[in-house]
Amino acid sequence: MENLSTKDIVKKYEFRFSKSLGQNFLIDNSVLGDIVNSAEVNKEDLVIEIGPGVGTLTKELLKKAKKVCAIELDSDLIPILNEELKEFDNFELIHKDALKVDFKEIIGKEDSVKVVANLPYYVTTPIISRLLNEQYKFKSLTIMIQKEVGERIAAKPNTKEYGALSILVQYYCDIDIIRRVSPASFIPRPKVDSIVLRLSKLDSPRAEVKDKDMFFKVVRQCFNMRRKTMWNALKGLKLPGETIESAFKNAGVDQKRRGETLSIAEFARLADSICELL
Ligand code: SAM
Repeated sequence: MENLSTKDIVKKYEFRFSKSLGQNFLIDNSVLGDIVNSAEVNKEDLVIEIGPGVGTLTKELLKKAKKVCAIELDSDLIPILNEELKEFDNFELIHKDALKVDFKEIIGKEDSVKVVANLPYYVTTPIISRLLNEQYKFKSLTIMIQKEVGERIAAKPNTKEYGALSILVQYYCDIDIIRRVSPASFIPRPKVDSIVLRLSKLDSPRAEVKDKDMFFKVVRQCFNMRRKTMWNALKGLKLPGETIESAFKNAGVDQKRRGETLSIAEFARLADSICELL
């Protein structure tokens, strides 16, 4: 089988890029190598790839994994992928929207599952949120995303990047920044820089909470109104003033602080104190 580059495959099939599907294909082999190596894929793994494009990353994953299941939305890419990857019997292609696909069904009984993707930037946050919130059984998520989103994910308290997305990911995962990637590594070139992150799922969430929904509700409320004090932000929960006041006191958190200064442990204490008073 000839080893065609991304550019060769695009040319061979006269593929036309769709901007609205976030199609920026990787052409840089050093980035490709870093993604595959940092994902630490081995013959026990089911790899789920979101958005395989013309299959450049997919091919490298297929050489290392037990099986690769790729989810691609663009109908024009389906015949290209089937043709270019036909030599691999461990490849499964699902022609669907990754936001709607049934991950539980894909994962089945596999117990070593890793997600690897050069994500379409317009759906980065919904895909990450879905994978984490819905408690799928995967070990890690190695993703290339827009640099700014990566910085928000890895942000620490007291920075302008710290927000609900940082807390969601850090609550469930350890984060490793693998490398930065310039627009020159793609065709067509995106307008923004990219970053590769590895999110390794923790055995249990970073903080124990009585009610996850309340924890994330408090977090969202505080970051929806990030300029306001916690006290003002939590008025949105529509609870009696005394309840909120007691919750701050019991949690040992000053109600005049802003949400962006709180650690995950402090958010957890506050949410638990609210639950205890309800
Ligand atoms: N993996 C390829 C690479 O690295 O060269 C392509 C990455 S490109 C940034 C994103 C891919 O995701 C495209 O192939 C695009 O068609 C696909 N895509 C876009 N939206 C999608 C969705 N909602 N579900 C599944 N795939 C999607």
